[in-house]
Amino acid sequence: MDVAVAGVGIAGAFTLRQLSKSLEVVGIDKREKLGYPVECGEIIPTKKEMKVLLPTLDDYSLFDIPKRFESNRTKEVHFVLPDGKTFEVDFEFHVVNRDRMIQTIAEESGHELMLKTRIKGLSGNKLLTESGEVNAEVIVASDGPNSRIARTLNLPKKELSPAKQYVMRGVECDEDVVYMYIGRKISPGAYAWIIPKGNGVANVGIGFRPRYADKRDTIVKALDRFVREYPYSSPFLKKAEVVSSIGAVVPIDLPFDRAVYGNVLFAGDSASMVISHVGGGIPPSMVAGDAAARVINGYFDGENGLEEYDRLWKKYLYQPLMNAYYLKRLWDRFSSSDEKITRILSLASNADMGKILRCRIPRKIRLISPLLPLIERLV
Ligand SMILES: Cc1cc2nc3c(=O)[nH]c(=O)nc-3n(C[C@H](O)[C@H](O)[C@H](O)COP(=O)(O)OP(=O)(O)OC[C@H]3O[C@@H](n4cnc5c(N)ncnc54)[C@H](O)[C@@H]3O)c2cc1C
Repeated sequence: MDVAVAGVGIAGAFTLRQLSKSLEVVGIDKREKLGYPVECGEIIPTKKEMKVLLPTLDDYSLFDIPKRFESNRTKEVHFVLPDGKTFEVDFEFHVVNRDRMIQTIAEESGHELMLKTRIKGLSGNKLLTESGEVNAEVIVASDGPNSRIARTLNLPKKELSPAKQYVMRGVECDEDVVYMYIGRKISPGAYAWIIPKGNGVANVGIGFRPRYADKRDTIVKALDRFVREYPYSSPFLKKAEVVSSIGAVVPIDLPFDRAVYGNVLFAGDSASMVISHVGGGIPPSMVAGDAAARVINGYFDGENGLEEYDRLWKKYLYQPLMNAYYLKRLWDRFSSSDEKITRILSLASNADMGKILRCRIPRKIRLISPLLPLIERLV
């Protein structure tokens, strides 16, 4: 083959979509049905928001998300603190049917797909799979947060946060709002969410970082508290039933320093390309997959080398991902107690939270940053 796309989630599908039809390409995935089960809250900022979030993209048409993939469109984000104080931020999200989106994009790419095929490793230009070897001149490692290919190449391990999510039916919340709940009791070191998909269906989940949790606490107990007891979420969920349940991990670390290793290009979660303070990986995976494909097309046309990919993804993603990581590290300082979280966020405004959501570091935070160790002790 010319190109093997190893893992067809978001990054893999967007790579296949952009790879030239004249190339011999195969997309390989262990799943029987691409994107299923859905291990995601399924929100993607609208194009208007993406222009602010990733201001250095050359082309935003990637974020013209077709209506057929959308199950809802929300207008606001409400950040709910442990004492109930709520920040209301105008911010638009598409809530997509992520599995349908991945399947359709991969199928419409016209490239060959090898499903139910687990990748075991890599040897030179050969991908080793359960059903034999695949020889390819270029390999795209889009095999997600637990990348087998990254492990084979002995690349440094990145921090992952466990997450658990229910799809619930009969949810009674404002369907124009994505709710994000900050608080150690329900989501130590992360946040919990209710994401309305429309018609009373919602993705209801939590992140859970054991190092910030009580010793005996578990992700299952925390999600249960969020659904049944927590005063600001349970009223929306009292008549709701669980339709399905998943557990997965989200990268919450810095991206790789480089994503090109010989003939292997890493894209998406496999390279920790994630907006780490909110665990948002769909937009970076779309951008990285698309950029990888454009570089590969150029490589086969003799226009550029594969290393051009490092220049491109960094141009598009690096600064926002670095800002996100800065905010995530800042957040970690106050995550050990709900009192600290509440006190430090009493200094924030709706506008600050809007900036933070858009990977901007508010001036206030820049100004106080030299004093953070002191503030951490005082709050
Ligand atoms: C609970 C949860 C909620 C989230 N909510 C959001 C959200 O609302 N918005 C957002 O932007 N981000 C969200 N994220 C993050 C987002 O889902 C990921 O960052 C994004 O999907 C990464 O895409 P990817 O293509 O890199 O990886 P993936 O989508 O994980 O795709 C990797 C693919 O590789 C395949 N694969 C893996 N290993 C092998 C192997 N050995 N052999 C063959 N195939 C393999 C997998 O089957 C999969 O299809 C969430 C994550 C979680 C866990």
